Amino acid sequence: MTRAPTMPLLSAADPLPYHILPAREESPFVMISDHAGQAVPSSLRDMGVPPQAWERHIAYDIGIKEVGRHLQNALGCLLIEQVYSRLVIDCNRAAGHPTSIPPVSDGTAIAGNQNLSQQERYAREEEILHAYHDEIERHLAQRDKGEFLFVSLHSFTPAMEGGEPRPWEIGLLHDHDPHSARLMRTLLEAEGGLCVGDNQPYVLNSHNEYSVPYHAGRRQLPALEIEIRQDLISDDAGQRAWAERLARLLPLLWAQRKERA
Ligand SMILES: [Zn+2]
Repeated sequence: MTRAPTMPLLSAADPLPYHILPAREESPFVMISDHAGQAVPSSLRDMGVPPQAWERHIAYDIGIKEVGRHLQNALGCLLIEQVYSRLVIDCNRAAGHPTSIPPVSDGTAIAGNQNLSQQERYAREEEILHAYHDEIERHLAQRDKGEFLFVSLHSFTPAMEGGEPRPWEIGLLHDHDPHSARLMRTLLEAEGGLCVGDNQPYVLNSHNEYSVPYHAGRRQLPALEIEIRQDLISDDAGQRAWAERLARLLPLLWAQRKERA
């Protein structure tokens, strides 16, 4: 990957772009959480975004950091979280994608993303987007020999601005590995009363998204992207309940995959 020289974006006062929760043991899961974070580089100040907007889904995936941490604790697997807000740069988009550094998000104009210079874009790409994905690559390279499921965690808003309510409690997104999604869907539906989206509310492909195609699709690794509706995981009880459910079902999914392989 060619990298243009940049003006530094992050300073010593800013956190690293990724947060690692290491595996406790050999685990068949590697998890990532692209939209866990709400941090903003201090040099960008508030990006001209009103305080209440930082608490909305446009800034991060509400509830998913907590679900991911409970799940990581239960499964003992590696979890890599993105630390910066998706309004700074969306780490589930390729560099240069129209919504990578969104000038508008769900009807809210992001003043700090208007009329950026090429240097300012490169700085966000290099220091946040590529730094995060390089870290994921480093961990995957260490794991290349063993088999594992690459799990990407997200949450979705119950309705976009002016849009229809979304009926799914959970969505399973897939592209190169429909098999894992199919098995997980059957397991979730056996729980009773769950509306499970199949490539809903989003379709996973290499144009719409980045992390799963880039890391797992390219290697043909078993992979699953999980999207949980945000109203279900906006409090501690919901976060724990969904983590408990996934911690129970993911090992069953993996066992079934191995059996039928
Ligand atoms: Zn997300």
